[in-house]
Amino acid sequence: MRVYNSLTKQLEEFRPVKEKEVSMYVCGPTVYDRMHIGNSRPVVFFDTVARFFRYLGYQVTFISNFTDIDDKIIARAKSLGVSETEVSERYIKEIRETYRKLNCLPHAHNPKVTETIPEIIDFIKLLVNKGCAYEVDGDVYFDVTSADSYGVLSSQTLENLISGARVEENEKKRNPADFALWKKTEEGLNWDSPWGRGRPGWHTECVVMVNSFFKGKIDIHGGGTDLKFPHHENEIAQSFCAYGHMIANYWLHNGRIDLSGEKMSKSLGNVVWVDDLLEKTSYQAYRVLMLNVPYRQPLNYKDELLTQAEADYEKIRRAYNTLYRRVEEAGEGAFAEDVETEKLKEDFIAAMADDFNTANALTAILQASKLANKYTRDAGISPERMRTLLKVFGEFLWVFGIETGVQPLTEEEKDLIARYRQARKAKDFGLSDALREEILKRGLEL
Ligand SMILES: [Zn+2]
Repeated sequence: MRVYNSLTKQLEEFRPVKEKEVSMYVCGPTVYDRMHIGNSRPVVFFDTVARFFRYLGYQVTFISNFTDIDDKIIARAKSLGVSETEVSERYIKEIRETYRKLNCLPHAHNPKVTETIPEIIDFIKLLVNKGCAYEVDGDVYFDVTSADSYGVLSSQTLENLISGARVEENEKKRNPADFALWKKTEEGLNWDSPWGRGRPGWHTECVVMVNSFFKGKIDIHGGGTDLKFPHHENEIAQSFCAYGHMIANYWLHNGRIDLSGEKMSKSLGNVVWVDDLLEKTSYQAYRVLMLNVPYRQPLNYKDELLTQAEADYEKIRRAYNTLYRRVEEAGEGAFAEDVETEKLKEDFIAAMADDFNTANALTAILQASKLANKYTRDAGISPERMRTLLKVFGEFLWVFGIETGVQPLTEEEKDLIARYRQARKAKDFGLSDALREEILKRGLEL
């Protein structure tokens, strides 16, 4: 299995820290608004990554945080005339609901900054003691010149970063590229610290959360490509200073989502919200849309892409559900080896194991749909072979986080279908048409 490591800029063989286990951390949202489709890409992608590892038999621990302290939350609270906690709790609730609607497996934990303050303060103390951070007048800054490897992730040299850093009015920093670990403030939520009252800066929380839960280096740290610099660069610098390692063995970054060729931005007003889109379409089509483009490439959202994803999902759903019915009719029984199914399984795994190429994996799923259609039309295919295909097809869909919703038939439904078949056999087309309509109305495949 190969993954593209943004840190080394190459495809590398995946070797977990602990055999048959995968530890993953993905930077979560700042909770001051609903989730837009750009934010949902890492959510759907890394959920699929976690599912694939589980499918391969790994035990996966996947953590993603909620940033519930931020200037944007303070601004939102002010504009709404409510407390910051009300803002963050409201959006945490909404975002959790969005995760659920997108059919994401629950994360092992969603730590919040407000619940991590003592650990963050201890961590900043450690950085100060190690000589990588310094206090000025109640603020604490990280000294980027203390980190030899600063710039390693975003491929920038310290020299360029320093000369290119925006020269702010802030005279307190030794160096314009230094970043705040602790900010002196009495505005909004603030806490006591050895440096006076204040709150932590954004870049520290993830390092602390990763270390609190995993107690050491993890396998995968992920997030959107926009987080590479400065957020992830700063995480690496702090971790290296504190623990002598770069947090994760593999850094994975997904590409951004544009809207009809333009950058999505709230100020331009061209933002698509996940919940709004899920009013118009199914989560299954949504996931197909997200996974139809390899994760490192930018995804340019257009309505036509959604139409295509809906059509693809409809093909998948019909094929899977029809095969399901055929297997159900045949009753319980054995599985038989099936060369064509085996080939699809190899293709699917090879695609996913090639740096999570979900676009090629989707092709394998569509091939499975075709094969299912072929089998259900061919009276010569044994139930044993159909069972094998159904099982493998179902596994593909599970990895993609897609459920078709097909359920075993109730006695009443079985009776309805039996009567339909009888009417057709007896060439009573009036009755068979009426029964057929009734069957389709219930969403059953024939
Ligand atoms: Zn982070």
